[in-house]
Amino acid sequence: MRLSVPNIPPSILSNAALRNVPSVLPSEAVQRIASFLASGTAAVLTGAGVSVDSGVKAYRGKDGRYMNPDYKPIFYQELIEDSPRGHSFRQRYWLRAYIGFLPVRRTLPNPTHFSLAALQHAGVVGSLITQNVDGLHHAALRHALSEAEVDARVLQLHGSIFKVRCQHGHIYPRAVFQEWLGRANPRWRAFLAELERTGAQPKTNPDGDVALEESVSYDDFVVPHCPGCDAEGRRNSIMKPDFVFFGESISQKVKDHSYSIVENADRLFVLGTTVATYSAFRLLKHALELRKPVLYLNVGPTRADGIPGVQKLEIPTGEVMQDVADSLLGTRARNDLVLRDMLRSGVVKPST
Ligand SMILES: [Zn+2]
Repeated sequence: MRLSVPNIPPSILSNAALRNVPSVLPSEAVQRIASFLASGTAAVLTGAGVSVDSGVKAYRGKDGRYMNPDYKPIFYQELIEDSPRGHSFRQRYWLRAYIGFLPVRRTLPNPTHFSLAALQHAGVVGSLITQNVDGLHHAALRHALSEAEVDARVLQLHGSIFKVRCQHGHIYPRAVFQEWLGRANPRWRAFLAELERTGAQPKTNPDGDVALEESVSYDDFVVPHCPGCDAEGRRNSIMKPDFVFFGESISQKVKDHSYSIVENADRLFVLGTTVATYSAFRLLKHALELRKPVLYLNVGPTRADGIPGVQKLEIPTGEVMQDVADSLLGTRARNDLVLRDMLRSGVVKPST
């Protein structure tokens, strides 16, 4: 089977170099977004761009191309292969993920996450679909809602970095699996403790994978067995994070849920994404087919460029979203402490 990494069509990228993008003033953008959101219930679709202010590196730069030309995504088939080759692949993967979980765990929602959460909590916008696996929309909305309520409002289209799934469907919190990895690999646990003590920051990719030196040997790294499978009399250490890898399909349940969110809203607000992945692009197409207005906020070329019916504003989310939320919720927030707190929350951290 031939696998390819989703990309923006080359024609859009080459046109982007020549195009003259009309600039929009932040005040005008705020006004246009606020009036779009106030005119009906919007579904929201987000991508990596909304997490950049939290220090999560985006895959693509402003020109729409991968920022790291040597970036090699991990393919699903490699990670789940039931063979010695698959096993060594998982040793390598889980060692890097073990180290990479440290910064992932410390990442905090930024003002864009909190602004969207406040708008959701206040009922101004409806459900949110995110392509991000970083859990930051969840973290922001948790200030106001229970975990079950958050799950009902935020669909993580590509899954979550905070869960681990075995090939037979047993699911564990990532933090628990982190403990098991540490217990099974005391030498690496000591290495991680030292990193934590010194505050050193390993370089990570958005999916929590970390870059380690070439000389590191992965051979003695132990990937723990799934206790659920052990209890069923089966030894199984084919574990993967519960997010969608390249080459893996989104479940029908999640796909249907994402479509229903778009169908139940009367407009779609897209931000911080190039919709390069088809799972996101088809949602935008679905909204257009249903003749729903689409407002698109992103800097740089996207797969949706030039599609009739898409209004696009070229401005970073972090420059406008807090003002959008303030302008729509400012009055209500005077009497609502939770809302007021959300409108003032969020940490901006430069990417490392
Ligand atoms: Zn299992």
